[in-house]
Amino acid sequence: MRDVVITHLHYDHVGNFDLFPAAALHLQDLEMRYATGRHMSEARYGGAYEVEDVVGMVRRAYAGRVRFHDGDAQIHPGVAVHLIGGHTLGMQAVRVRTRRGWVVLASDASHFYANIEQERPFPIVWSVPDMVQGYRRLRELADSPAHIIPGHDPLVLERYPAPSPSLEGIVVRLD
Ligand SMILES: [Zn+2]
Repeated sequence: MRDVVITHLHYDHVGNFDLFPAAALHLQDLEMRYATGRHMSEARYGGAYEVEDVVGMVRRAYAGRVRFHDGDAQIHPGVAVHLIGGHTLGMQAVRVRTRRGWVVLASDASHFYANIEQERPFPIVWSVPDMVQGYRRLRELADSPAHIIPGHDPLVLERYPAPSPSLEGIVVRLD
């Protein structure tokens, strides 16, 4: 795999990056700054980061295998990253052109459908105003609310079909 988008550096979103040694890892400047800066000494902000993941990402940066972005960027035709912030300082969502239109992978910019639909910020948050503004941005980027995919909602597995019977309950097609 040539490109892997790291939406943010929380342990449940980055822990397997070393399975892709040859890939360019796409990360926001602000996320690396946040994960290596002063706020990590407070559990409220640093608690969802695993220091070895962050150190590993620093090593990848020194090896020239992290593609840093400062805000929105197209990484391939039909695939773009968008700085959202809110949940972490450098949280980014991914916008993908599919057969059914522009789909937005919100990751933790909206953990559940309820977060964005009811504008109820998730409590692991760097900035509540940025998180609420991020809900607006996700809606602008997606062709419809049904094109926004939250990061942790089990309803995603109910609403979308598995690509094959053996992947039932594990993987779904979003296109
Ligand atoms: Zn997270």
